[in-house]
Amino acid sequence: MEVIIWVLILFILIYAIIPYVLAAKLGFWVCWKGKKDAEIALTFDDGPDPVYTPVLLDLLKRERIKATFFLVGERAARYPELVLRMSREGHCIGLHNYKHQCNWLISPWKNARTLEQSARIIENITGERPVFYRPPWGMMHLLDFFLHKQFRMVHWSKMFRDWKRKGGSKKVSNGLITRVESGDVILLHDCGVTPGADEDAPQYTIKGLRVAIPALKARGFRFVRMDEMFDKHFSIKTSHRRKEIEP
Ligand SMILES: [Zn+2]
Repeated sequence: MEVIIWVLILFILIYAIIPYVLAAKLGFWVCWKGKKDAEIALTFDDGPDPVYTPVLLDLLKRERIKATFFLVGERAARYPELVLRMSREGHCIGLHNYKHQCNWLISPWKNARTLEQSARIIENITGERPVFYRPPWGMMHLLDFFLHKQFRMVHWSKMFRDWKRKGGSKKVSNGLITRVESGDVILLHDCGVTPGADEDAPQYTIKGLRVAIPALKARGFRFVRMDEMFDKHFSIKTSHRRKEIEP
C-alpha cells in the first residue's frame, strides 16, 4: 500500500507539479516576459463576454491599443461577432481551452482534440489560426509540452487578482500604475463567469484600465500584442503550415 502511495506522489510530482513550477515560477518553455524596453502586453482571459468585451473593445479602440485575448472555444462559438470584432480591430487571439477546465483534470488527448476544435472555430471566424495558448489558471502538465507543439504556451509576469471584485477598480489601476515594468505580460479578465471569479469583476478591470492606460502611456510604455512581443518566426512557420493543408 505504501509503495502505491509513493508511486502516486511521484507521478503527480513528475506529471503536474514540477512542470507547472518550472513553467509558472521559473518561466521555462513559456512566453511570460518580453525583452524590449518600454514594451508591455495586455492580455485578457476567459471571454468573449457579451456584456464586458464590447465595452473593453471600445476602450482599447479609443486608446489605440492592441491587446491579446485568450478565448474559451465554446464561448467563441457562441459569440462569433465579438471574435470577428477583436480580429478586425487588430487584436491578437489566442486559446484558453474549449471549456474553462484545469488541464490536470482532463485527459491530455481530449484536451489536444478540443484545442484543435477551438483553433478551427476561431480560424473559421477570423481566417487566422491562433498561435498562442494559455491553459486555464496557468496550470500545465508534462504532456502539454509534447502534445501542443503547434501552439506557443503562454503564462504571465503580472496579475492583480482582477477576477475578484474585492478591491474594486483601484486594485487594478494601482497595480498597473505602480507595479508594471518593461516586458510585462499582464493577465486581466474580460469575463467573470468562470469558477472562482466574480461575475461583475470585469467592470472594475475596465474601470481600472481607464485610469491606468493614460498613466502608463505618459510613462512611455508601448502596448503590444503577444506576437509582436515574442518570436514572430513561429507564427510565420505556422501560417505556412496552414497554407499547405488548405485545399
Ligand atoms: Zn481563465
